[in-house]
Amino acid sequence: MPTSSFTSASSAVPCPVVESLDAILPEEPLLMMGAGPVPIPAAVAKANAIVINHLGGTMVKVIGQVKSMARYVFQTNSKWVLGVAGPGSAAMEMAISNLAWEGTRVLSIKNGFFSERMAEMGRRVGARVSTLDVADRAVASLEEIAGAIRRERPEIVTVVQGETSNTVWNYHLKEIAALAKAAGALVIVDAVCTLSTMPLEMDAWGIDAVITGGQKGLSSIPGVSLIAFSDAAWARVKGRTAPNAHWCLDASLAENFWHNAGYHYTAPVSGVLALHEALRLVCAETLEKRFARHLKCSLALQDGVAAMGLRLYTPKACRLNSVVGIEVPEGFSPADVCSHISRMHQVEISGSFGLPIVRIGQMGEQCREHNLFRTVHALGRTMVDLGVKVDLPAGVAALERGLSGGK
Ligand SMILES: *Cc1c(COP(=O)(O)O)cnc(C)c1O
Repeated sequence: MPTSSFTSASSAVPCPVVESLDAILPEEPLLMMGAGPVPIPAAVAKANAIVINHLGGTMVKVIGQVKSMARYVFQTNSKWVLGVAGPGSAAMEMAISNLAWEGTRVLSIKNGFFSERMAEMGRRVGARVSTLDVADRAVASLEEIAGAIRRERPEIVTVVQGETSNTVWNYHLKEIAALAKAAGALVIVDAVCTLSTMPLEMDAWGIDAVITGGQKGLSSIPGVSLIAFSDAAWARVKGRTAPNAHWCLDASLAENFWHNAGYHYTAPVSGVLALHEALRLVCAETLEKRFARHLKCSLALQDGVAAMGLRLYTPKACRLNSVVGIEVPEGFSPADVCSHISRMHQVEISGSFGLPIVRIGQMGEQCREHNLFRTVHALGRTMVDLGVKVDLPAGVAALERGLSGGK
C-alpha cells in the first residue's frame, strides 16, 4: 500500500536547500540607474508592503483616486482609464488585443525593439500588420508617415513616444496622431518609458490609447500598469463581435473591477496602492515641474557624459531624454561596462539588446542630483578602471554646471 508519508515516497520532489534573501541581496541596495525598474520613493515602498481586500469600500476609493490621478498624468478626460496586473507589455497587449483582431489593418511605426513588439502583438491577434521601418537613430518624416497611411489605409496606427532600446524620441508624436486621425485611424501610443517625464496630451493630441508601466517614469513598482482608451477606442472595444482571446486582458471584463466595483480577477492590491502613491507624488510635484526636473537632469547628464569624452548614441534632434544611450568605447562590450560599474560602484545601468551602447535612465527618482553625481562618477571611474581615457573631472564639472543652470 502506498503511504501518504512525504519522506518515504521515492518519487517525491525533495525540499530544496536555499539561501535567504539576506544572503543573496547586497547589504546596501544597488542604485538602479538603468532603463527600468527605477528607484521608488519611500511612500511607494511603504504602500507596496500592505495587503487590503481587493473588493469593498477602501479599494473602491483607492481605485477612484488612481483613475483621477491617471487622467491628469495622461491629460485626458476620458472615463476609460484602467489598471492592468502585469508589465507595460501587458498594457500594450490590452490595447492591441482589444482594438485589433482577425483582418484589422494595423500600421506600426517601427523605431526599434519596443515599437516592433506592438506589431508582433498585432500579428498574433490575426491583424494585417504593415510596418514602417525607421532607420536606427532617426525618426520617420511626416511625409513618410503620411505616405504609409495613404498606402495602407490602417484602422489602427501604433507608435512609441520614446523608443527606449535605441534612445530615440518620436518628437513628431502630436503630428503623427493628427495624420492618423485625419485618415480615420485610431492611434495607440506606447508611453511606457516617457509618461510623466515629458509632455503627452492624450486628448489634445487626439490619441486613442495610451499605455504605461509602473517601473519607469512613474517610479512605482514593476508589474502594475495603466491604460487609457478614448471614447472612440472604447466604442470599438464595445462594438467588437468576436471576444478577445486574452481573458485577463479583456477590457470589457476589466471594466467590472475598474469601473463597477465588481470582480474580474484579484487585483494586485499592494501594487495598486504603490501606484496610488507614485501618482500622488506626481500630482504633488505637478507635471510642469516634473517635466522641468527631468529635462534639466537629463541634459546635465548628457553634458557630463560628453564632457568626459564619451559619445552619445543618438543625434540631438531625436535624442530621448528619459533614457540616455552612450556608445561603448572600442574594444569593450556593454556587459564589460555594466558588470564593472555594478560590481565596483554599486550602480546598475543597462546594455541594449545587441546595440553597442549602455543606457542610463532619467525616469522618476533617477532624476535626483545626488544620483546623477554618483552615476557620472561611477561611469567615469569604470572607464578609468577599464583603461579608457576619459576626463572624469571635466564630466563632473559639466554635470554641476548643467544642474546649477550653467552658472
Ligand atoms: C520598458 C518598455 C516596454 C516594456 O515594458 P515591460 O514592463 O518590460 O513590459 C515597452 N515599451 C517601452 C517604450 C519601454 O520602455
